[in-house]
Amino acid sequence: MTGEERKLRLRLSTLCASLFQRGFSVGTAGNVSAKIGNDILMTPTNSTLGAIDPDRIAKLDAEGNHISGDKPTKEAFLHCAFYETRPQCGAVVHLHSTWATALSCLEEVDPDDCIPPLTPYVVMRVGTVKRVPYVKPGDAKAGALIKDLKGEYAAVLLANHGPVVSGKDLFSAVYAAEELEETAKLLMMTKDQKTRLLSDADVADLRRSFPNM
Ligand code: ZN
Repeated sequence: MTGEERKLRLRLSTLCASLFQRGFSVGTAGNVSAKIGNDILMTPTNSTLGAIDPDRIAKLDAEGNHISGDKPTKEAFLHCAFYETRPQCGAVVHLHSTWATALSCLEEVDPDDCIPPLTPYVVMRVGTVKRVPYVKPGDAKAGALIKDLKGEYAAVLLANHGPVVSGKDLFSAVYAAEELEETAKLLMMTKDQKTRLLSDADVADLRRSFPNM
């Protein structure tokens, strides 16, 4: 194992524990992956993000075949769909975090833009979020639904399930997942009040000013 891979395994374990300790994930919910060369490191099936053993993290090849370590999460297809359609994607975080999941259950959400631009940070770190229709847990159709988006979105909300967020590396993906969760919380807190969203011009200005976030 290269020193680089060792470092990434430790970082993945540390960031997963951090997400768990701060309540972004409970029980065995949620899974995280990151690219190392052409391969993918992924949290194992039935594992808790609170205690990921760096040496037992699953390793998959670019086609999603299991190479070594424990068997990967049963939701591996969510991750592979992002790697396949977004060449710039270096990591994926899937959570059942409370506020984003609450938002994913609302009837009156625009499926093409389900996290409106309430703050600049969600625009900069997450971008436009698409809600994809509900499918039952473990059904690989959810992967196909993400692939159908052709890499256009860095993050999606699975209806009645939770967010899947990608980033150029592990830190970006984790920070984006946290930003999405906090923005979903703000949206739920303000949904019955007259809210001022950022204008189209504000959003365009942010995208010009921070193109690489
Ligand atoms: Zn899930």
